Amino acid sequence: MTRPIVLGAGPAGSVAASLLARAGKLPILLDRDAQVGDAICGGFLSWKTAAALRALGCDPAALGAHRANRLRLFASDKMSEAVLPEQGFGLSRRALDTALRDAAVAAGAELVIERAREVGPGRIVTDACEWRTEALFLATGKHDVRGEARPRSSHDPALGLRIRMPPSPERTKLIGDAIELHLFEGGYAGIVLQEDGSANVCLALRKSAMADAGGKPHDLLRAYAERAPAFAERLGDLEGDEAVDTIGSVPYGWIARATEAGVYRLGDQAAVIPSLAGEGMSIALASAKDAVAAYCSGTSAQDYQAAFARRAARPVRTAEALWRVSETRRGGPAIAALAGRLPALARLAMRLSRI
Ligand SMILES: Cc1cc2nc3c(=O)[nH]c(=O)nc-3n(C[C@H](O)[C@H](O)[C@H](O)COP(=O)(O)OP(=O)(O)OC[C@H]3O[C@@H](n4cnc5c(N)ncnc54)[C@H](O)[C@@H]3O)c2cc1C
Repeated sequence: MTRPIVLGAGPAGSVAASLLARAGKLPILLDRDAQVGDAICGGFLSWKTAAALRALGCDPAALGAHRANRLRLFASDKMSEAVLPEQGFGLSRRALDTALRDAAVAAGAELVIERAREVGPGRIVTDACEWRTEALFLATGKHDVRGEARPRSSHDPALGLRIRMPPSPERTKLIGDAIELHLFEGGYAGIVLQEDGSANVCLALRKSAMADAGGKPHDLLRAYAERAPAFAERLGDLEGDEAVDTIGSVPYGWIARATEAGVYRLGDQAAVIPSLAGEGMSIALASAKDAVAAYCSGTSAQDYQAAFARRAARPVRTAEALWRVSETRRGGPAIAALAGRLPALARLAMRLSRI
């Protein structure tokens, strides 16, 4: 028997490595970065994610996460609020990923820093060597590796963009204990406060919307702020030198329905839920748990993948439908108005988009 290898130490990979180590399987956890970065992400932990983390012994509140109790929706001149079904949190990815990676190492996973160049059933070619394994847990998240790349849409793909605004009493008062979604034509911005009081402002938008702003993220943010006073208030004055992180071509809605022998796909490599649902990390944790349980019980990677695809279908399709309607000129305001009039419907949509 070879040792299982987990490729990628984001939430999916680190949790898989922890669970494998706890089961006595002596996993190797490979990641390209020695320093945990601050991945582009809305930083919103849904109540499902929070519960899954607590079950793993990682309490968001103990990491200082900011509590989020309500969803606030903005679109055009409409604003509505709905209480979340249960408490969620705002937490930076640096804080979360560090805690999960540390937990995997503490449980007995061997962390190796190498960048994978190519993967395939039973093998990983890195910049240092070639690894062989009977069980590869593929958890490279947003990033594809040659040999196992996901198909991408060439028609106006979705981009991710993130700017972190420093703590300020005005922003704290405006955002408070809400996860805010500001819906625009062609995209949305999610805003939540994080453990240090800063505001994580994360957008998902069409490439064409970025092209309309001349490909300049600060100009795009200013254009959105001109259209939406509430967004402008939260953003404040932009100097133009703030760091803006971007990621291109996110395959929202993609689900891995099949895999190869011995390749267990996890997290974003298993299913990519449109990010306005704030459920990507929950999918990462659920897939890690299911895949490790399958491996430990002798279930094939193919059977695990097919079962996980069925499990992920409802939340991913619900979030996809919401995202497609919300990004249209009339759809965003209609969703905000409906959520204001029928909060029970808003809560139902939130529940249906959970794994
Ligand atoms: C704009 C946007 C906003 C989002 N907002 C939210 C939100 O608010 N809440 C939520 O729950 N989800 C959100 N998501 C989704 C969430 O970020 C992902 O679902 C989650 O990060 C998936 O975790 P993962 O472990 O699969 O991958 P990742 O977090 O991407 O981790 C992958 C790991 O693999 C490593 N890696 C990559 N390539 C290689 C390689 N070649 N060799 C070695 N290592 C490698 C990386 O260094 C990294 O550590 C958002 C996504 C986007 C795009």
